[in-house]
Amino acid sequence: MTQIPRAAVLGNPISHSLSPKLHNHWLDRYGIQGEYTALQVTEDALAETLHHMPEQGFVGANVTIPHKVAVMRLADQITDRATLIGAANTLIFKNDGKILADNTDGYGFMANLRQGAPEWDPKAGPAAIFGAGGAARAIIVALADAGVPEILLANRTRPKAEALKAEFGARIQVIDWVQANLMLSEARTVINTTSLGMKGAQEFRVPLDLLRPDAVVTDIVYNPLHTPFLLAAKAAGCTTVDGLGMLLHQGVPGFERWFGKRPEVDELTRRAVLS
Ligand code: NAP
Repeated sequence: MTQIPRAAVLGNPISHSLSPKLHNHWLDRYGIQGEYTALQVTEDALAETLHHMPEQGFVGANVTIPHKVAVMRLADQITDRATLIGAANTLIFKNDGKILADNTDGYGFMANLRQGAPEWDPKAGPAAIFGAGGAARAIIVALADAGVPEILLANRTRPKAEALKAEFGARIQVIDWVQANLMLSEARTVINTTSLGMKGAQEFRVPLDLLRPDAVVTDIVYNPLHTPFLLAAKAAGCTTVDGLGMLLHQGVPGFERWFGKRPEVDELTRRAVLS
């Protein structure tokens, strides 16, 4: 009897994850015999869990907080983009028993912007990024790769932004958090990568009055979908793209590798995940 291919998202906590809804929607939609579940795994149990997954029919996994960095030490092979970012969110259990670690967050971010704002040109001018956490790392790598001429970066804890500049180079200019609004007068791409504005978190309070109407603005917070940051940008005449699509698109490469079908991200996908 051949086992159906299985995949899972590993994290702690994990009950909030939308990944099972996303992947099960795609499995149903394409009539694929497969399974995708959520596994709550503590840091102590991560290595052991990964070791036993292939023999249980797992062909891969997504990893989320707090395991994105730790899995890099447990993988046998690491893609260039995961190496650059220093973290992985997608694992492939290969037939030869090796674990390949990849990071698709930057891909998801770019695919979402390109789908939500087809006219967006990364080379049009500087990008302004609020925040210098894990997601910002992936986004900086993706934007630099897309040819953004300059990245203006502001973070509450300035040394974290300075560390990203030291790592990713001269194209980054660090701006003090208290002056973060000044980035907006030049920026053609504006991104909130902080958790500000997320349900249960503090509000995003940086003034946005200097936003240019020709800027494309995105917030990677997707709960709520229409964050006050995005609503203010829309009111200023900017093109806005919500953060849900980043989550959906980052799942595409993993699903394709595990289940053999490149899935669509469209209105049907969004509705399935939000239902
Ligand atoms: P992280 O590594 O913990 O970084 C959090 C960032 O938010 C840091 O820059 C932090 O600044 C900033 N921040 C937190 N509280 C703040 C406050 N009160 N004032 C100013 N800045 C504050 O988290 P992450 O993994 O990068 O994720 C960030 C957000 O993006 C989360 O809401 C997450 O859910 C979301 N996200 C969405 C997607 C998607 O697919 N759409 C993917 C990844 C993440 P300090 O350095 O000063 O602490």
